[in-house]
Amino acid sequence: MSEEHSALTVSLSQLKLASKKLGLDSGMHKMLSQPKRTISVSIDIRMDNGCVNVFNGVRVQHWDARGPFKGGIRFYPNITLDEVTALAMLMTWKCAIADIPFGGAKGGICVDSKKLSTHELERLTRRYVSLIFEYLGPQRDIPAPDMYTDAQTMAWIMDTYSQLKGYRIPESATGKPVEIGGSWGRTEATGRGVIHCVKQASENNGLKLKGSSVAIQGFGNVGYHAAVAAQEIGCKVVAVSDSSGGIYCKDGLNPEAVLAHKEKTKSVQKFKDCKDITNEELLELECDVLIPAALENQITGKNADKIRAKMVAEAANGPTTPEADKILYEKDICLIPDILANSGGVTVSYFEWVQNLTREQWPLKTVNQKLEAKMTKAFNDVESIVVKEESDMRTGALMLGVGRVSNAIKVLGLWP
Ligand code: NAD
Repeated sequence: MSEEHSALTVSLSQLKLASKKLGLDSGMHKMLSQPKRTISVSIDIRMDNGCVNVFNGVRVQHWDARGPFKGGIRFYPNITLDEVTALAMLMTWKCAIADIPFGGAKGGICVDSKKLSTHELERLTRRYVSLIFEYLGPQRDIPAPDMYTDAQTMAWIMDTYSQLKGYRIPESATGKPVEIGGSWGRTEATGRGVIHCVKQASENNGLKLKGSSVAIQGFGNVGYHAAVAAQEIGCKVVAVSDSSGGIYCKDGLNPEAVLAHKEKTKSVQKFKDCKDITNEELLELECDVLIPAALENQITGKNADKIRAKMVAEAANGPTTPEADKILYEKDICLIPDILANSGGVTVSYFEWVQNLTREQWPLKTVNQKLEAKMTKAFNDVESIVVKEESDMRTGALMLGVGRVSNAIKVLGLWP
């Protein structure tokens, strides 16, 4: 397959492989290949300078056989419908792998959020929610943060939904601030979940994690919290990066100090005692664990052969192309796929939804213990398929996710 293939082409070919291995009939395969609903909207907002601007938004709802649609909303200038559809499909498999009662969705607005003021972003978010309102709701579709959206964005989404309904509905969005029903531990969950998978993979493969070196591409929500969690279990974070480039220090760096530096200077680069490196150099570093936590298509047919990490844990969605997958597998590099590795976020989103529905708030310790138990179980469920099928981890994870969703559709039957 050529690397020019789109995200959706890749997701569809992954589905085809899993369907074949699971022996699904062509009707089931056709049903799973299509999203249930795609909503495209034009979002008109008044900018701070008084002019009106129009932004394009989309929400794709893939499948809801196991529960309400669930998935992030990203603000990004170059979003395509194709990419959002692929991500919605991956969410369906991810929720099934994590064994939480949700389906899959994804949404986004084509916008460079750095160019908008906070007031403009608030108007943009609220108008978008009003346009897709009838398809949202705690039992229909529950948004969460993704690239360039955060807890504040979720607060606006939940508040807009509640205003339009006429009463407060905290369970209508997850990843909210704790003050309004957010769960303790949600912000850290995706990054922490990645490290639970790395820990489990190391235990299962007899690798020693204490003192091992970790390189992380992307120092946003996921990358930063993965760095903190890696350090907590005794790993050395030797490199991190953001859109402006990366830094390397062979003795390990302190994620909190790098974050403070980034907040001050807007970049991780030029951090004391570290060498500035490019994002390409970071990926090719000699290290034990490589965590791509930024964008898709970072490890490709062009650079996969130069990857020297022993393990790659995909914190970002789709960071490895199919060509690169093959090369890494042949090089015997353990690859923990995105649909498993980054499922910690949606898992704690599920905990948040449960807490909101029951009007409870669990302590951080409870959330973290439950997260570790869920991640470990998901990892081992995938691993048993990998062993049985003698497959790579991505195929094993897809078989688990697609298998659980198709089983749910089978028992639900078709109405009418
Ligand atoms: P974020 O916006 O908080 O951070 C993104 C980071 O990537 C920033 O540090 C940015 O500077 C960096 N970046 C952007 N372009 C880059 C480039 N060309 N090279 C290197 N770094 C670059 O986003 P996030 O929430 O941390 O999400 C990161 C990835 O994880 C995305 O693929 C997202 O879909 C995935 N993910 C996020 C969650 C979540 O809970 N936030 C859950 C599952 C998956």
